[in-house]
Amino acid sequence: MAQSLLVEEHVNEEPSAYAIAVGQLVTAAHYLNLDSSLLEVLKHPRRELTVNFPVKMDDGSIRVFTGYRVQHNLARGPSKGGIRYHPDTNLDETRALAMWMTWKCAVANIPYGGAKGGVACDPRRLSIHELENLTRRYTSEISIMVGAESDIPAPDIGTNPQIMAWIMDTLSMHKGFTSSAVVTGKPVAIGGSEGRMEATGRGVTVVSHEACKELGMHLAGARVAIQGFGNVGSVTADLMHKAGAKVVAVSDARGGIYNPNGIDIEKVIHCAGRDGCLQAYRQADTVTNQELLEVPCDILVPAAVHGVITEHNAHKLSTKLVVEAANGPVTPEADAILQDRGIMLIPDILANAGGVVVSYFEWVQDIQSFFWEEDEVTGRLEKIMRRSFHSVKEIAKENGVDMRMGAYMIGVKRVADATNIRGIYP
Ligand code: GLU
Repeated sequence: MAQSLLVEEHVNEEPSAYAIAVGQLVTAAHYLNLDSSLLEVLKHPRRELTVNFPVKMDDGSIRVFTGYRVQHNLARGPSKGGIRYHPDTNLDETRALAMWMTWKCAVANIPYGGAKGGVACDPRRLSIHELENLTRRYTSEISIMVGAESDIPAPDIGTNPQIMAWIMDTLSMHKGFTSSAVVTGKPVAIGGSEGRMEATGRGVTVVSHEACKELGMHLAGARVAIQGFGNVGSVTADLMHKAGAKVVAVSDARGGIYNPNGIDIEKVIHCAGRDGCLQAYRQADTVTNQELLEVPCDILVPAAVHGVITEHNAHKLSTKLVVEAANGPVTPEADAILQDRGIMLIPDILANAGGVVVSYFEWVQDIQSFFWEEDEVTGRLEKIMRRSFHSVKEIAKENGVDMRMGAYMIGVKRVADATNIRGIYP
């Protein structure tokens, strides 16, 4: 069957991200007693597109780049999901990320299916002009799939509001009129939402706060270690610090810094995202990204890439709570070890949903051409994050499963119900 072919490409290696995503879905389907043919539908991405396209480089040469856009599911609404620029971007990972978006939108109960896109490239090695050329040509190539009513991209690793602005402009140029709801995470000046930049980190902080209450501890005073100092990691560090937590370790792609007495976040926050930012901070020991995951803390926030907490290091973690700000940072083997060790985990499809929730608000504001104050955005976001956390907690408790399976049970059931109610065409 097509499904097994998709997964078996990787049989002789570590399980691929997509194989992991399918495995998680299969476990949830078992708990939900889901009909096997419906499971077969949900396992498959609905549409996937690979594009190879030329880009004019600054030295006059032409380079061919490969990009993807995958729509996993459209049962609950248009598909939604970010665009990633990273050297390791590939079709398998994009499929997994698209499937995770489907469950994430369903857990937060916003009316979207899941999608993801990306280009295999290192954006730090491209000039601003090359980055714009690449973005506009990639957008043009995937324009047969995207649109305000069909599939709405947003930022992810390696992309930012400026890139979203180029995407919006390119699609608008194709149409001949300004179309702002085709992409979210745009600058506020062209229809972006107040609070979108902070949204994922804010959501991570809200669910961490709720989890602390469950664990009988306080976020204020808790020791926090954060892997990744891009948009999500740096905003999380800032908001956790403002909530009174002690951020003891942070890291970026080059490595991290650790001080058990706390890092002066105000000192490092202004250079977040710039190469060498953390390395210039002197009042801390340097640690590798691997060591950062093992420092003694109360809350560990992996906010970088997938597959960093595995069966090889899960037993070395020295934390009470893991909050998955990245997509897929903990492997299924590590999940089992953390559960055995009594370490609570808030899964990605719940923990980092704040970004897509405010993307939804941005889309609604663009469609209505009516823009909200930041307080309204933040208030509504916090309410959705709290409500989602507690519904996941309850279903996990009722079924004796961990928080990841609780979140999957909610997300998969909502998508399965929508599919059943709509029926199979024709
Ligand atoms: N890329 C983000 C995510 O993984 C945001 C997606 C969006 O806002 O559509 O959730």
